[in-house]
Amino acid sequence: MNIINHLLQGDNINYKPSPNKSGKFTQGLPDTVIIHFTAGPTAASAINTLTNPNVKASAHLVVDYDGSITQLVPFDEIAWHAGVSSRGGRTGFNKYSIGIEIVNPGNLTRVDDMYQAWYGTLYPAGKVLKAVHRNESKPRYWHIFTQEQIDTVLEICMLLKEEYHINLILGHEEIAPGRKLDPGPAFPLNRLRDRVLNNRMEDEPDELIPASGKVTASLLNIREEPQTGSPKVAKPLPRGTEVEILDTKNGWYKVAAKITGWVAGKYIETDK
Ligand SMILES: [Zn+2]
Repeated sequence: MNIINHLLQGDNINYKPSPNKSGKFTQGLPDTVIIHFTAGPTAASAINTLTNPNVKASAHLVVDYDGSITQLVPFDEIAWHAGVSSRGGRTGFNKYSIGIEIVNPGNLTRVDDMYQAWYGTLYPAGKVLKAVHRNESKPRYWHIFTQEQIDTVLEICMLLKEEYHINLILGHEEIAPGRKLDPGPAFPLNRLRDRVLNNRMEDEPDELIPASGKVTASLLNIREEPQTGSPKVAKPLPRGTEVEILDTKNGWYKVAAKITGWVAGKYIETDK
């Protein structure tokens, strides 16, 4: 699997363009992936909905039970998957993020010895996990995700991180708590974050830190902490500014900027 012209390429990947989108991301974005479940029975039903111009919803990808993928919106364009959402000083996550919908009925209700989705379908106990959602205090029943879905989403996130410098993976439930429950406790969201963002692979060497670099953005914010929304420590660094690189974390560099210019001598305290 790889990404060419902002489209996934590979086996079992289809492209069905959705009209439900709103132009290109701004420079430096997307930097976030949002994980969803479809809360529906099949990939076909999700794709029909998310390409229907009357529905005003979409996502970049739909991942079926068998791991096959349908892309609906190119990765450089804004899809409509997050809705009203906020976290870490940001609101409206569509403009920051790539949305991945995983086919899954969502939470289920017990009916005798079966488990029923909101659309009526009954699922056997073998497909069901009983667990407490991170935003709730009592357990509910959730449809399991297939190993193919979990493996495919991991591979997609690894690719997206390389291509778009993704530094956040969040569940819809984390940016719209109280309104959304997806992907829910049946999806291994923490493990996905660990694998993709922390590079916790025993046999991998520690990341090498370059000694210095040069700013390529026209104006680059410089912040207290390695995260968007953290307070700025100075005016933005202009393009071409030479920086010394002191540390790295989750795709951020801690830098010291060297600025050269003339200042009045009487305002400089010297050693002599
Ligand atoms: Zn969602």
